[in-house]
Amino acid sequence: MKDRKLMIVDTTLRDGEQTAGVVFANREKVRIAKFLDELGVHQIEAGVPTMGGDEKEAIKAICKAGLKASIMGWNRPVIKDIESSLECGVDAVAISISTSDIHIKYKLQQTREWVLENVVRAVEFAKKEGMYVSANAEDASRSDMDFLIEYARAVKEAGADRLRYCDTVGILDPFITMENIERIRRDVDLEIEMHTHNDFGMATANALAGVKAGANYIGVTVIGLGERAGNSALEEVVMSLKHLYGVDLGFKTEMFREVAEYVSRASGRELPAWKAIVGSNMFAHESGIHADGALKNPKTYEAFTPEEVGLERQIMIGKHSGTASLKSKFAEYGIPLSDHKAQELLAKVRAHCVSLKRPLFDKELVYLYEDYFGKPQNRL
Ligand code: MN
Repeated sequence: MKDRKLMIVDTTLRDGEQTAGVVFANREKVRIAKFLDELGVHQIEAGVPTMGGDEKEAIKAICKAGLKASIMGWNRPVIKDIESSLECGVDAVAISISTSDIHIKYKLQQTREWVLENVVRAVEFAKKEGMYVSANAEDASRSDMDFLIEYARAVKEAGADRLRYCDTVGILDPFITMENIERIRRDVDLEIEMHTHNDFGMATANALAGVKAGANYIGVTVIGLGERAGNSALEEVVMSLKHLYGVDLGFKTEMFREVAEYVSRASGRELPAWKAIVGSNMFAHESGIHADGALKNPKTYEAFTPEEVGLERQIMIGKHSGTASLKSKFAEYGIPLSDHKAQELLAKVRAHCVSLKRPLFDKELVYLYEDYFGKPQNRL
């Protein structure tokens, strides 16, 4: 993977905003686009210009913001959709149509031939207008592979720059993903973007499997926001590439937590404490054995450093804490704790945590100390 040019395509502003119940204000859309650009995202799918109104205004504003990233508009294979994208000033368009029989028959109520005719006409039009074109195969993962290859060949012939392989309902696993992407790469000389959904919790794994098989564009969203269970997450993909595959895309990863918090607030979607890469629990240690290890050398229980993603290490004092954590905490307060006192205090701490059903705040710990040992005399 190291020698290949991998590109991150963020669709927080399109697929992310399509999440049921999510709507961004125009100024939030522009703010998020600026964040993505600063992070290092190569292409920003900014929205759906043909919706008109605020959506179109927001996309125009993003195009005028002077960002380094390519700005893409999303379109059906309809000329007036693409004309709306052109009016916004984007440099790239996604042209999207379903390739699975279930979608063609029940949703579009059309034929495979109709799909090919329309996508080819739209791609040719967009290319004539000088756009970079991603031809999206919606529901690619449930499409007949022979027809998908036919579709890929047709869009390539029409001038498309890449194929977006969509696992629209998130039913792939990494092994099948590899087989499918290898097959397309073998049969058609066209770049591929992975667009994976998280319905079975495998969006990021599937995106990376696609890359391993030869795809070089990766569609993502901040914190995995997106339809239903969401998409592969920007921070997961970038950090996996860096730490699991040794591919450093040069992203400002130290902004990940801040951007995750912003998108979480703007979308009204909670950022879970256990969220991979950016959750507040990523560097929180409570259990005695883990905290002891992390205090001696953080690498014993952390895959990367908190600073790298804008988080902080936290030793929590709770039911599962041990004496090493207690001594380290009290050292922070300037109160030296002997082994004997630490043992004694630990029993009180545990009982307290069980009765409160939560860890203790710093102040509570000090009060607890004072209750049993009196005011610390030799405070440093
Ligand atoms: Mn999607």
